[in-house]
Amino acid sequence: MAPEPRAVRLLILGSGAAGLTAALYAARAELRPVVIAGVPAGGQLLITTDVENYPGFPEGVQGPELIDRMRRQAERFGAEFVDDNATRVDFTRTPLRVETGTQGTYLADAVIVATGANARWLDLPSEKRLMGHGISACATCDGFFFKGRELVVVGGGDTAMEEALFLTNFATHVTIVHRRDSLRASPIMAARARAHPKISFVLDSEVVEVLGRDSVEGVRVRHVKDGSTRELKVGGLFVAIGHVPSTEVFRGVLDLDRDGYVKVHDHTRTSVEGVFAAGDVQDRHYRQAVSAAGSGCMAAIDAERWLAARAPAVHVPPAS
Ligand code: NDP
Repeated sequence: MAPEPRAVRLLILGSGAAGLTAALYAARAELRPVVIAGVPAGGQLLITTDVENYPGFPEGVQGPELIDRMRRQAERFGAEFVDDNATRVDFTRTPLRVETGTQGTYLADAVIVATGANARWLDLPSEKRLMGHGISACATCDGFFFKGRELVVVGGGDTAMEEALFLTNFATHVTIVHRRDSLRASPIMAARARAHPKISFVLDSEVVEVLGRDSVEGVRVRHVKDGSTRELKVGGLFVAIGHVPSTEVFRGVLDLDRDGYVKVHDHTRTSVEGVFAAGDVQDRHYRQAVSAAGSGCMAAIDAERWLAARAPAVHVPPAS
């Protein structure tokens, strides 16, 4: 027989910077939050190496260490972690219902959605092999490590233009490789990139292989119209072809925008009462660990105030 659903005051979905900060604040507000951490737990910081722009770490910190510290800090105040994914949610009635893969069903008075977003990758075997060794999807995070190198940015949208422009602060030259002959980016961003002396374009082309044994030494690009290939010798590859928010399970449940990001109003409220969203799952713009953590804090405060104004729908047994 399936175990009884477990009742909690606040359930947090996701354990990246947003979910962990929400867990810390909610735990210190004595809400005894349960975090469905996701598998793998930890979010995008787990695949980041040096983090040098998270305040409070003048020498920098490794992404996995930062996540581990955040999790221990939330645990210290009583947050509980369940290493599983939310597989189905029912937010049509109270209490809110969340099913997990193997760890049973949870009933909650309030939920914070912090399931994050993942960078879209090119999906090449060579890209997987050299991930973290000269390949990145975040110039703000990693650009500094590519001082004095020639770089390639893949993509034709605003992010690609922005990343390329930012990378000119470090790189000797940046080549933007885009699969069509016209850019998707807004005219102003495209014009800025076109006017920059350190930026050039390789259009109608796709990266078909990342070259290098232990780190990126170049890319092979294929012209999509005539099929010809050529190599570009570069010391780094930035992939800027969009992000995919992790919202599959909320489709038809929460209002999402056309790209699948959770829509929020009044800071962190979603379209469903008692459901809040924080971090990259609702933010296509900043996507930084510190901004995700900040919005996790906001969601926890919003959830706490929302809960304080209502009688509980669930009965949570006292802490033993
Ligand atoms: P976009 O979806 O706008 O652009 C993605 C780009 O990647 C497109 O040029 C697309 O090509 C290309 N692409 C997608 N998949 C692949 C693939 N498999 N292989 C090769 N190329 C691929 O994403 P962005 O992240 O650039 O922007 C997202 C949103 O955020 C946009 O609304 C943008 O305006 C906004 N934004 C605004 C900024 C600003 O105003 N400063 C800064 C950054 C983002 P194709 O064009 O052929 O589809």
